[in-house]
Order: sequence, then structure tokens, then C-alpha cells
Amino acid sequence: MKKHIAGFPRIGVGRELKKALEAYWKGVISQEVLEATCRRLKLHHWGIQESAGLSYVATGDFSLYDHVLDVTAMLGAVPERFGEFDAAGVGIDTYFRMARGDAAANIAAMEMTKWFNTNYHYIVPEISPSFSPSLSSRRIVEDTREAIKAGFRPKPVLVGPVTWLSLAKASEGYDRWEKLEEVVAVYCGILSELAEFCSLIQLDEPVLCADMVPQAIEAFVPVYKRLNAASGNASLLLATYFDTLDDNLDLALSSGCGGLHVDLVRGRGCLEQVLGSLPSGMIFSAGIVDGRNIWKTDFEQALDVLVRIRGDVGEERFMIASSCSLLHSPVDLEEETSLNPELKNWMAFAVQKCDEISVLGDILDCWDCSEALIENTEAIQSRRNSAWVENKEIREHCASISDQMLHRSSTYQERREKQAWLNLPLFPTTTIGSFPQTAEVRRQRRLFSKGTLGAGEYEQFLKDEIHEIIGRQEDLGLDVLVHGEVERNDMVEYFGQQMEGFCFTENGWVQSYGSRCVKPPIIYGDVSRSGPMTVEWSTFAQSLTTKPVKGMLTGPVTILSWSFVRDDLERSEVCRQIALALRDEVQDLEHAGIRVIQIDEAALSEGMPLKKKDRASYLRWAVDAFRLTSSGVSDSTQIHTHMCYSEFNHIIGAIAAMDADVISIESSRSRMELLDAFRDFRYPNEIGPGIYDIHSPRVPSKEEMMKLLEKALVFIPKERLWVNPDCGLKTRAWPETLASLRNMVAAAHALRDIH
Ligand code: GLN
Ligand code: ZN
Repeated sequence: MKKHIAGFPRIGVGRELKKALEAYWKGVISQEVLEATCRRLKLHHWGIQESAGLSYVATGDFSLYDHVLDVTAMLGAVPERFGEFDAAGVGIDTYFRMARGDAAANIAAMEMTKWFNTNYHYIVPEISPSFSPSLSSRRIVEDTREAIKAGFRPKPVLVGPVTWLSLAKASEGYDRWEKLEEVVAVYCGILSELAEFCSLIQLDEPVLCADMVPQAIEAFVPVYKRLNAASGNASLLLATYFDTLDDNLDLALSSGCGGLHVDLVRGRGCLEQVLGSLPSGMIFSAGIVDGRNIWKTDFEQALDVLVRIRGDVGEERFMIASSCSLLHSPVDLEEETSLNPELKNWMAFAVQKCDEISVLGDILDCWDCSEALIENTEAIQSRRNSAWVENKEIREHCASISDQMLHRSSTYQERREKQAWLNLPLFPTTTIGSFPQTAEVRRQRRLFSKGTLGAGEYEQFLKDEIHEIIGRQEDLGLDVLVHGEVERNDMVEYFGQQMEGFCFTENGWVQSYGSRCVKPPIIYGDVSRSGPMTVEWSTFAQSLTTKPVKGMLTGPVTILSWSFVRDDLERSEVCRQIALALRDEVQDLEHAGIRVIQIDEAALSEGMPLKKKDRASYLRWAVDAFRLTSSGVSDSTQIHTHMCYSEFNHIIGAIAAMDADVISIESSRSRMELLDAFRDFRYPNEIGPGIYDIHSPRVPSKEEMMKLLEKALVFIPKERLWVNPDCGLKTRAWPETLASLRNMVAAAHALRDIH
């Protein structure tokens, strides 16, 4: 039985790649040392795959920054602003400048955006009329040769041309598809080279699982005809993942590729359809082990499916695989020493997933794996029957949610009058929540978590900080204050730690972009709140001032999106449980006298399904979860929400349906975007379009911010316009924060004088 994975995480179990990259960028280590670290990591990862018993090791999946940028470099798609690259190809420094920009030369980085519906960010290729595709990086060939030299059997992996072009952004008015022919020619070159020493090459075309534009649909089959012709004796494995193939199944089946990889976790729905029409020569790669979650595969269930497929396609044409690249799962469960052993026994990280694939193959090959099978069955049973997973009270509580609980008592117009007691001026000023988390704040937190600092002392330190932060906001003359979020290092982890049903890893890092990693909490059981989570901090802050202090919560959809979620309950149901717990928190805040409450939904659009047809139902439950969280308060309490992106013209209906009294959004990075966002803006309640970019230390002038506000006023009536930065200020330093906020408040004052 053939077994493989679609790719392995590259960051390293101890985040070695992150550390090496950051040291290289700081100039602390040389390119040779960086490359040596990479070589060690690759060899180690290949070793893991081989010793697990997989038939191939993935090559080309390792990347110094991003696998989409790797293809961009391979094609020589270097935007003009980065200058000429030398004939030897795109060197490592050009590569990093593309990814990170060049501050010294004032050259902006290429844009970065989410890889389909994951939390991984890729570097967006830029296509201009002057781009002339030519083979400019042979990294994938070199990596593959390295694997062979070390005695491994490689399967090179690269993003296919149709997905690459689909994800690119073209210069204004230019049709990117005009470059297709030349792009494919470069692919053909690299494939024919790889084909000399590989029998199987994986081309990733996840775009087949999304809505494709007509040009991509039209191009697909002819492009693959050429790619197949160029690949000589090697077989192309067309890899699809993240959803079902649906309408694009025919394209995949007519591609002429030697094999088709299907995601049987997120794309199970099209299995019968695929089996029913798979051409007789085509290999079926069954992506049965979830590459995007941390749960053990249920062998019994998996074997049912696998046996069924093998019966249909025959042993010769069958491969067992991960659903997608393991890039999206943490590296090695063995590194977790403080996870509860029962919970740990339910999980599998990348290393363990390689073993799972291998064991599944061995079982089908009739090897004696009874021990592994029994172990797996026991783990699955233990999870299914555990008293920690299901809580009757929570289930009943969820079942009793009424429609009325999803609605505020009155309309926004009526609530507005009842909120007049807040006595806010025209163009009220506020911030998004966090204030600079200084080295001292981080140091104290570290000392506390190590146990060096007692709980009492730590609490006193935080209260002193809050005191300081409130004072600074009063001095600035802000209208609605915040406590500053000094007690949190992460907007999801902080809440997860105070709720039942969550657990946390020590080393479960997953690459988010470049050297950045996140460590998502794991939701394993029914979620409930152990007790008030934020009330003490907010009321303390409120006790220090007569200005209103905003309570600050992370919303249910964001907590869900940034966690590993249990797979034994619908996501919408898990979200409802979180919402119900947060609803209690909102009400507790209100009772404690916190009458302005912000519920952040930074990740609302991240959880969006890939296909348009599935979006309405997602938005429905996501919006309901927000409303369940926010609607239990009286009309006179003001609910805010915050979102971190500006492109939401397409979901504006859903955002309006959330019915927050005030929404703050990111919008300052480009003035044009601000205009765009508001051109057709039909948001009926109050809005604070961010008027300065918190991602940069630059201090915007009062005049600059006034101009942005005047632009916003073209679309938003003055009674409904708030004045605030783009997002939280935790990554900033105090001096620029104070200077920027001073100018921001001055801009609001000046505007009040005019209007
Ligand atoms: N309230 C959060 C903060 O200010 C919001 C962060 C976010 O939107 N990502 O940090
Ligand atoms: Zn934000």
C-alpha cells in the first residue's frame, strides 16, 4: 500500500527555523549557518516520514518563508520595486525583501493574506505586464537531490500554476491570465528536470475546491495537458484539499494527471462522485488523516472508508495520505509533558499523523497491527465516553436558547436615545482595547507564570498599570476609556484559560506566517464559564474614573476560529456554547456597572467557507452567536464590536445584522480602501473607521486624521461617527502611542468646532 503526506511542518519542533530566521535577519548568523539549520530540519523531517514507513518523503514543502513565495521566486515574479535580481536567480536576500519589505530603502513588502480558509498567511504574487516568467530558483530541485543523496525516496510538492495565478493580484487593468502560457513553460521546465529522478510529483491545486473564475476553469485542462507531457515518466499527483470538488471535479478528472488527491476530511462529500467517475488509469490518494486538527484518527471509521475505496479502485491505484499538508498541525505530541495524559491520548500531531497513515496502510496490507488498532480503539472510546466531553447542563442550557435571546429589546434608534445618558460629545474618541505591553509587563507576567512572583504582587502590579493607563487616557481627553488589557497576553488564550472544555499545549506551535507562530488552544469538551473572567479588572478601572470604561471581551466566533476545535460536535454548536458563556460575562459586567462593552470579532471573516454557496449559512450561525453573546443587556448599555479588516463590502449585511451599537474597523492603511469600504456602506448604526495604522510606529498628524474623518463624513452621518485607531496598541511603544492619540483627540476637537 502506498502512503504519503502532502507536506510536513517546517518550523521545527523547537521552532528552530523561527529562531534561525530571526537571527539571520538581525545579522547575528550568516547565510551558511541559516542554510545549515534548514538542511538539518529537512533531513530530520524526511527521517520522520521514512521511519514511519511512508512510501515517499515530501520535498519542496520546506520553505524559508512561504511556499507560495517559493513558486513566485521560481518563476522570477519579482516586483520591479525590488530591483533587478542577478542572473543566478532570486537570491535569499531578494526573497526576504519581497516577504518583509526593505525599511532602510523604504520599499513595501508584498502583501500577505490567508491561505484559503486557514490561519496560515501566504505572500500574494504580483503580476504586472512587465513580468517575464523565467526559471529563477531551483530550490525544489536542489532539495529533492539532497533527499536522494541522503537515501530518501522523494515526492516533490509544489503549488500548481492555476492556483498560483488565481491567488495573485494583477496590476490595475491587467489580465493576469495573459501570463499563463509563459508561467506554464517554466513549470514544464522544472517538471521535466524533476522527472529525471522522481516517479511522483505533487502539484497542489486547492483552488479546485473553491469558486474558480472562468479563465481558470477554461485554462485548467489544456494547462495540465502540457504539464503532463513535460513530466515524462513521472506521474503527476493533482492535490486538492480544504473542501469538496463539486463543480470542478470534471476538471480534475480530465486533467490527465496520474493521480488525484482528495481531502476526505473536509471534502468527504464528493467521495462517491469521484469514485463513480475516476478514469481507469488514475490513482486515488485518500486524504483520510486530518492535516488541520489535532485529534487521533478513528481507525475503525477510517478503515471502513479506505476498504470501500480500495474495493472500487484496486490496490494498485490507491494511496493513503493526510488530508492536506501537515503544515497546519503542531509538530510532535511527545513534546507535551504537562498535558493531562487522558486528553493527550486523544491527540495526534504531525509526527503521530505520519505513523497513523502508515499503520492504516499496514492494516490494509494485512500486517499484524492488532496492538496499534486496539490502542487506537481504546483512545477513541476513552474520548467518546469521557465525562469531560459532554455536560448535560450545558446541553440543556443550549437547547433552551430562544429566539428572543438573540435580540436586543429595542431597535438601534430606540437604544440610541436610552444611551444618551453616556453624554458623549459629537465624534466620541476611544481606543480598541490594549495599550503598549512593555518589556516590564511581559517580564512580570513571565515571573508570575514561573512562580517567582506571587499572585498578590502580580495583581498589585497589574492594578498599578491600569491606574497609570486610566490616568494617561484622562490626560489625553479620550471619551470612552479602556483598562488596557495588561492582564492578557493573548485575546483567545486568556478566555480559554478561564473556561471549561479548553486545554493548552506547551509547544503546539503552528506557523502563521514567516517566522511567526501561534499556539491555538484546544477545545475538547463542552464549554462553560467557571466564573466571571474580566469583571474585576473592568470594575477596578471604572472605579478610578468618572468617564465610562469599556468592558473588553473576545467574541465567540473569534475564539472558535483561533482554536483547534473538537470534531465530534458541529462547529456552530461549539460556537453557541462559547457564546452562552460569554453572554453571562456580558451580563455580569453590566450588573457590575460596566455599561459600555466591546466584543471583538477579529476573525469573523476567517472562518468563512471557501465557496460562496456555503457562506450564508455560516454567517447566519456566526451572527447568531454574536447576538446571543451581546443581546442580554438593557437598551441603555452600549455594545461595541471590533473587526480587523477593511474588505467587508461583501459581508456588510451580516455585519449589520450583528446589531452592535458601535463597530470599529481597520481602514486607515489605504485611504482608497476607506473610501471603497464606505462607498456602498449601508451600516445603520455607529461606526469608528480606524484613522491611524497601529502596525507602524509613525505618528500621524492631526491634519491627516482630520482629512480621513472628513472623507468618512461623506458616507457616515456625523451623529454616527466615532474616532479611534485601527486596532489595539499592544505592540506599540508608549511615546508614539501618546503622540498619536494626542493628535487623534485634537482632530476630533477640531472637527467638533467645524461641524
Ligand atoms: N481588543 C483587542 C486589542 O486591542 C483587539 C485586538 C484585535 O482586534 N486583534 O488588542
Ligand atoms: Zn483589530
